[in-house]
Formats: sequence, structure tokens, C-alpha cells
Amino acid sequence: MAAGKTIFKRIIDGEIPAQIVYETDRCLAFRDVNPQAPVHVLVIPKQEIASLAEAAEADESLLGHLLLSARTIASQLGLENGYRTVINCGPDGGQSVDHLHVHLLGGRPLGWPPG
Ligand code: AMP
Repeated sequence: MAAGKTIFKRIIDGEIPAQIVYETDRCLAFRDVNPQAPVHVLVIPKQEIASLAEAAEADESLLGHLLLSARTIASQLGLENGYRTVINCGPDGGQSVDHLHVHLLGGRPLGWPPG
């Protein structure tokens, strides 16, 4: 394994397994290993971007692709009653994996505000 490779990059490279639910040329989506709701999917870009703070203007289309992919997955997984998308960014945002990811949560009513 290359030094500094994140767990999500290792999933993209097929080095560790994941329960993949959706894939395009630009993104991969798989079940969160520690689900916080009946449906908890992570949508990640195949391109390595450490966090939303590290995204560039040139990533505008990719960022939209991630959100529209989350919408498609929500529909495919039957979340017709609603769902939440979350991007944690940096230490205060609670980000624990340094590869940009969109959480898709649903399947139960979700409280607000988050902790
Ligand atoms: P965050 O805290 O926003 O960085 O979210 C990282 C998420 O990745 C957490 O919800 C973890 O449960 C999840 N996670 C960590 N390792 C894996 C893995 N190997 N497969 C699936 N999800 C993972």
C-alpha cells in the first residue's frame, strides 16, 4: 500500500472490500461500515480530493455529480420519505477520512441540529 493512501482510496483501488451500491466514471458509493441510519451510504469521487475545503473551482461539475448521484441512490434505495446529505469538513466538522465524501442518510426521521 502506498504511503498516505486513505481507506477510501484503497476501496477505489479494490484493495479492501466495500458494499458498493452505485458507480459511475467519476464516483463510487458504498455502505458506511458503521451506519447511523437504516440507509447510510458514502458517495465519494474517484479523484482524490482531501476535503470540501480542498476542492477547486475546476471541481464544480464533480461536486454537482456527487450530489446528483446521492439523489439517484436515494431514489433507488426507496427513500421517498426524505433523506439527508452531509459533508463533514475538517476537525471541527467531524471529518475522519481525508477523502471527500457525501454521507447519504435515511430510512428514519433524523434529528436536528446535529451534535
Ligand atoms: P467522516 O467522519 O465524515 O469522515 O466519515 C467517515 C465515515 O467513513 C464514517 O461514517 C465511517 O463509519 C466510514 N468508514 C470508515 N471506514 C470505512 C470502510 N472501510 N467502509 C465503509 N465505511 C467506512
